[in-house]
Amino acid sequence: MVAPWHLGTDWGRAAQINAIGVPMDRFSFQLNATDGKARTGVISTPRGEIRTPAFMPVGTAATVKAMMPDSVRQTGADILLGNTYHLMLRPGAERIDRLGGLHKFMNWDRPILTDSGGFQVMSLAELRKLTEKGVTFKSHIDGSRHELTPERSMEIQKLLGSDIVMCFDECPALPASDERVAESMRLSMRWAQRSRDAFGDRPGHALFGIQQGGVTEHLRGESAEALRAIEFDGYAVGGLAVGEGQEAMFGVLDYAPDMLPVDKPRYLMGVGKPDDIVGAVARGIDMMDCVLPSRSGRTGQAFTRRGVVNIKNARHADDPRPLDEDCTCPACRNYSRAYLHHVFRSQEIISSMLLTWHNLHYFQEIMQGMREAIAAGTFEAWQAAFHAERAQGDIAPL
Ligand SMILES: [Zn+2]
Repeated sequence: MVAPWHLGTDWGRAAQINAIGVPMDRFSFQLNATDGKARTGVISTPRGEIRTPAFMPVGTAATVKAMMPDSVRQTGADILLGNTYHLMLRPGAERIDRLGGLHKFMNWDRPILTDSGGFQVMSLAELRKLTEKGVTFKSHIDGSRHELTPERSMEIQKLLGSDIVMCFDECPALPASDERVAESMRLSMRWAQRSRDAFGDRPGHALFGIQQGGVTEHLRGESAEALRAIEFDGYAVGGLAVGEGQEAMFGVLDYAPDMLPVDKPRYLMGVGKPDDIVGAVARGIDMMDCVLPSRSGRTGQAFTRRGVVNIKNARHADDPRPLDEDCTCPACRNYSRAYLHHVFRSQEIISSMLLTWHNLHYFQEIMQGMREAIAAGTFEAWQAAFHAERAQGDIAPL
């Protein structure tokens, strides 16, 4: 099948205009409705639309672990996240480029957002050396030496063919002193300008800036001002979900998204648990990503509307009921808790497949529920029902 974005130049251009009059070969964001601070809209890219608020499953090493790309799409995902750090080390960005780019390589033709590699260099690599120019480090896989700079990060993300490219930044682990956070944020802002310069003009591809500043309001403000002056296609709230806890994170989200332009998408990086996601959307966030649904699926943890279920518990061994009787995913429609318990205990591969599918399905269902509620102006009632159902806890054992 010829993918629609290949049709752009030769076919009727008049038809290739989206609802807000932007050519379909461009990146754009349309805000459709707000309810309180919560927003719903659509990001348009040449590779397809992204309904917001959007949850992005993480495809670290060019795969969402235990899932086929078609299955990921069936859960309702419009976009995936790929990790620059992992892909540059193995199999290498130049190799992926020679093989036709990341979309073709992993057989996912919809939008892909790539991170800059900055965060993962700081959390995974060995012997890191941070300078004004960038970071040199040793690979955690084979000990080989590498360098990441804003310019190299932009080059790698271009080689991968990423639709949404993230600025190269640095983020200190929290808690950190205000001085350290300020110094790091200002370095990230200088790198944001270098990222913008290196990214150049690439119609159809977007570059997002990343706000830093820890949990200190005036530093968040200074960062937002620096990013707005450079101008980006979207803005991320970075440096959260790094161990500060939900209360501190929500404390920052009470003001940080308001500092960013209203007419551009706002992305909260690396978040999170279902209640983190709902709380972030209530505070004006449009996009999120997290390894949680897929990683938990592999460790026997299922997220349901009634909270977390540990399928390894003996109470499920004889239970013929589905994980969640209202869920329409294959794990819940075709299998019992007893089966899911058995395959997890037997370490069968299908265990990871089914639980990951269920978890991704549930996360996308939350997003769909929020999009509809925000559009209908009933988001407050939706949130109350979401929390009330979770508070009930799992169904009683038989
Ligand atoms: Zn399910």
